[in-house]
Amino acid sequence: METIQIKDKKFTVSIPEADILREVERVAGEINRDLADKNPLFLSVLNGSFMFTADLMKRITIPCEVSFVKLASYQGIASTGKVKEVIGVNEDLTGRTIVIVEDIIDTGLTMQRLLETLGTRRPKEIHIATLLVKPEKLKVNLDIEYVAMHIPNDFIVGYGLDYDGLGRNYKDIYTVINEE
Ligand code: 5GP
Repeated sequence: METIQIKDKKFTVSIPEADILREVERVAGEINRDLADKNPLFLSVLNGSFMFTADLMKRITIPCEVSFVKLASYQGIASTGKVKEVIGVNEDLTGRTIVIVEDIIDTGLTMQRLLETLGTRRPKEIHIATLLVKPEKLKVNLDIEYVAMHIPNDFIVGYGLDYDGLGRNYKDIYTVINEE
């Protein structure tokens, strides 16, 4: 089985590119069916979702727009510590159908923050499309309509996702090997 080493961790292929693309194709089909005539604005959340966004958008055949946002972490004064700010939303979202394109939903807190922030910009509706969900870790109640794959609660890299900045370039998804 193919393994890679990134810094102190070893990873092994868990989802090959062909399997990823089959599910991306299915999700694109669902969006094409559901959001035709709504001219959706896809908001891709950088950095992790760049590869998913590219493969998804190549399969979207309805009129649409694509833009990119980023979450900037900074130390907040609140006791929760890190606060995430959404940056890069330059479009007028008023009355628009938005599709947030994410790499992975773990606890769901990042997505909750995105929904809160974008919700203040008066969109007509906000849909969620994510490559991956770790259902065991979900802490908040989210209506995740478009999911390529559900995965166990293990750390993964590849296909846009990183470990300490590295590994985003791999075309397959790799899972960490826990060496006890
Ligand atoms: P949440 O706020 O849902 O807990 O976290 C979502 C974010 O955590 C993702 O956008 C991603 O950046 C990061 N994340 C969660 N699980 C993993 C993982 O297994 N691998 C990598 N590389 N990032 C992850």
